[in-house]
Amino acid sequence: MATPLISAVCPECETELSTPPMVQGETLVCPECMLTLRVEDVEADGTLSLAMIEVTLRDWGQ
Ligand SMILES: [Zn+2]
Repeated sequence: MATPLISAVCPECETELSTPPMVQGETLVCPECMLTLRVEDVEADGTLSLAMIEVTLRDWGQ
């Protein structure tokens, strides 16, 4: 039996993602827009609620 995949939708580009089961706080990278997304919540039906992680990539020159 294959590992069941759960569905999620990227909040940025609305791509439907299929991923192995994840838990709250885990992160994944959207293959479409390459944003890092964090699992905010897992719905009762297994759907993931994802949120973009604000990544500060500023180079302060240090
Ligand atoms: Zn995306």
